[in-house]
Amino acid sequence: MPTPPRPMALPFSWADQERHLVGHLSALIRLDTSNPPGREIAVARHLSHELSRSGVRHAVLEAEPGRANLVARLPGSGQEPPLMLLGHADVVGAGPVGWSRPPFSGEVADGRVWGRGALDMKGQIAASLLVMQLLAAHRLPLRRDVLLVVTADEESGSRLGAYWLWENHRSLVEAEFAFNEGGGQRFVTPGGPVYTVQVAEKGSARMRITARGPGGHASVPRAQSAVFALAEALLRLRAFTPESVLLPASRRMLAVLADLYPGAGAQAIERLLRDPTWARAHGLPVDPVLREFVVTGLHNTATPTVLSAGHRQNVVPVEASVVLDGRLLPGETPDRWVAEVQRAVGDRVEVELLHGRVSHAGHDSPELLRVLGDTVAAHEPGARVLPYINPAATDARAFPDTKVVGFFPSASDADIMRLIHAPDEHARISDLVFGAKCLLDAVLRLAT
Ligand SMILES: [Zn+2]
Repeated sequence: MPTPPRPMALPFSWADQERHLVGHLSALIRLDTSNPPGREIAVARHLSHELSRSGVRHAVLEAEPGRANLVARLPGSGQEPPLMLLGHADVVGAGPVGWSRPPFSGEVADGRVWGRGALDMKGQIAASLLVMQLLAAHRLPLRRDVLLVVTADEESGSRLGAYWLWENHRSLVEAEFAFNEGGGQRFVTPGGPVYTVQVAEKGSARMRITARGPGGHASVPRAQSAVFALAEALLRLRAFTPESVLLPASRRMLAVLADLYPGAGAQAIERLLRDPTWARAHGLPVDPVLREFVVTGLHNTATPTVLSAGHRQNVVPVEASVVLDGRLLPGETPDRWVAEVQRAVGDRVEVELLHGRVSHAGHDSPELLRVLGDTVAAHEPGARVLPYINPAATDARAFPDTKVVGFFPSASDADIMRLIHAPDEHARISDLVFGAKCLLDAVLRLAT
């Protein structure tokens, strides 16, 4: 029997680090970086101050006034290419409703740090900063450079952040591996606890369906009206089953799931691997959230969001439209998906692409997954990692040559992730400490 993985030996005690970690997160939350307008310079300056105190080389790089990115580097021997700790400094705004504490208070109470960004993703930035400071303070010999890259503008498409860095300062942000948001949700399964690791993510295709028809006085009903045509198109969209594609990342995920759900679960997964259809995926007897990741990882999607038609109660509108939030499997192009949606909804309406982006974020690195698996097992006996395709986008999309993984394990069950972008967002201190321990451990395994 192989011996279970153990945590890496450390020249310091974790007991002293909790205070620093909580202090970092609380301070970061108090800097309001709601995007728009962003103002990530506040976070960049704060990190710059902290890194200077620790003697870590870094640069603050503004894409536009106030829209700052930070790149720090701990030099290693150069035997291997750099490892990046990646995070975004901006947060989504916080409306006044639903918060039991002010969203930018960074209050520490009930074993939690409260405020917008606690989970998405200033907690991981606080942990990444602590990792840099610990590596620097204890002068741990590194076989590769370790970078801390904190970006602007992720919540609005990464144009002034990750993409800008890649286009304008590529040599500063080149890395073999990166640890980013998008992973670390914990699930309890019959085969033991499991932590998600994002290994790929979907691209996007925002589109609009427009229907046109005769207008006139609303006292005379018109079966051919734009509104009815749009409604029919939406019903056709709902009934439409796009083609399923089994990417390598999905195969890897299903192989782990089959181990975690022996018996009926494994048999259902076996059938799905032979014949990957949407209906089969929907019927998988696994945790509903994990099932959703399987389903969204099999095909492109198009979700209706913003409906518009009419301006007066007694006028039949001549035009009605709906915006679709489309998500594309890695490698799939927006144009192909728009054409498919057009065929699905029929030619009574017109489908146009508003904005699209192919996702190049995806890789197959069994070696990296093995290291992350050893890391979580060292901190929670019997735990494993579960690779998955994130249906949403992160900064990973801007780094096509880097193996980016979503990795920041949270010891609480995945339920807490419901608070992302929601009122009363907060992080449990025990989760932060667990995440920081795992992050440091994984960095030591890869870089020392
Ligand atoms: Zn985020």
